[in-house]
Parts: sequence; structure tokens; C-alpha cells
Amino acid sequence: MKIPFCDFCVKSGILCQKCRELIDSGRNSSLDLTLSRILLEEASRIRELEKVEFKKAHVEDGFLLILSNNDGVRILRDSKEVAERIRRDIGVEKITVVDYRKDQKRKLEELVYPFRIVGLSKVWLPGNITEFKIVVEGRELDEKQVETLEKLAKKLGINVRIQAL
Ligand SMILES: [Zn+2]
Repeated sequence: MKIPFCDFCVKSGILCQKCRELIDSGRNSSLDLTLSRILLEEASRIRELEKVEFKKAHVEDGFLLILSNNDGVRILRDSKEVAERIRRDIGVEKITVVDYRKDQKRKLEELVYPFRIVGLSKVWLPGNITEFKIVVEGRELDEKQVETLEKLAKKLGINVRIQAL
């Protein structure tokens, strides 16, 4: 498994200078540290987690966004037990996993999963800003959840307006 910090630092809770700098510089957060610990602990039971690369996490209104690799997206979506532990320990209701190396369109697809994007357009705004407009098949998504997803997309550097049908 690949995590931003040294395994030893995560397990001991005492950070070396390199790990401390990741937090002090703002590149990673204490949330990333907590999640790294959970994943390392779970990896000792669930061998498949070894394939996971954990890059960074963001939380917004009880919604956790995990940046991972392609295997991570698949494994973390499928591992109900791990997801349950993350929800409980971090104190979030929902988890979404996005491959940080994918292009913006694919990231949006992963962000709104299990809902499906049924329409997508890209507009250019003044100041060379691009904004996606996507239509998501998700009657269950209320206004608040849509807003949260839009905020999380921003953390990925993506401006998006989501319409739920
Ligand atoms: Zn370290």
C-alpha cells in the first residue's frame, strides 16, 4: 500500500520531520493521517488493500472524498467492512473514491458514483475558466448533496454545476 506518510510514523503516531512537513505545509492533513492509519490496520487483515494507493482525502458536510488509484477505487468501493469502519472512525455518512490520475470527466463520473452522468457539457467562462454542467440520474440526490458534490469537485480543481434528474 502506498500512503503519503511512513508506515512507522503512522503506526507510532510520532512523526519524523518529513511526515511533519507534509502536515505543516498543508500538503496533507490530520485527516489523511487518520485515514492512513485505518487503511494500514485494515491491510493487515485484508490483503487486497496492498494494491491501494492513498493520496489524499477531503471532507465536506459529512461526505468524504478519497483520492486513490484505479485499484483503490474498485477495492474501497467493494470493501463494505472497510468503508463502514472509515465512516464510523472519521464520522462521515458517505464516501466517494476518485482516481486522482484520471481526466476531469472520469473524475466526475467517479465522484457522483453510484449515480450515473447522463449529460455533460463544458463551458468557458470569462477569465479562461472552464465549467462543466452535468446531468446526473439521481432522484435521491437532494439540493444539499448536490451542493456538497460541487464543493468536493472544486477540491479536485473542477468547476461543475450538477443537475439531478
Ligand atoms: Zn515519517
